[in-house]
Amino acid sequence: MEDCIFCKIIKGEIQSKKVFEDDFVYAFYDINPQAKIHVIIVPKHHLESVNSIDETNSLLISKLFEKIPEIAKILGVKENGYRIITNIGENAGQTVKHLHFHLLAGEFLGEKLV
Ligand code: 5GP
Ligand code: ZN
Repeated sequence: MEDCIFCKIIKGEIQSKKVFEDDFVYAFYDINPQAKIHVIIVPKHHLESVNSIDETNSLLISKLFEKIPEIAKILGVKENGYRIITNIGENAGQTVKHLHFHLLAGEFLGEKLV
């Protein structure tokens, strides 16, 4: 995807502050943090959103989720807790059309989701 910001970040064409990387997953600090710790976790393979997940690519998503506890440990938030959010489409306010999971942590996030 030529115009995708997150594909460019993964390729290193746009700078980012990396937290974790392997063959399938890239995690980096959000440029506009919504909590004390705010990290974006993306599959390296471009998918638009959760709506694009199917049997041909779901292994990539499980590989990403396998790494979430490891990323939480690197950030030092695994024990105290964190929140994983993904926005899908217009009503959820998805601005970047490359599937991504927000990891929010570092403070009490409240009990409400919205
Ligand atoms: P969405 O609203 O699509 O769920 O989340 C997109 C997120 O990507 C936002 O939290 C936004 O701050 C972040 N973001 C957008 N462009 C960049 C960028 O160039 N670098 C980084 N590190 N984060 C970005
Ligand atoms: Zn992309």
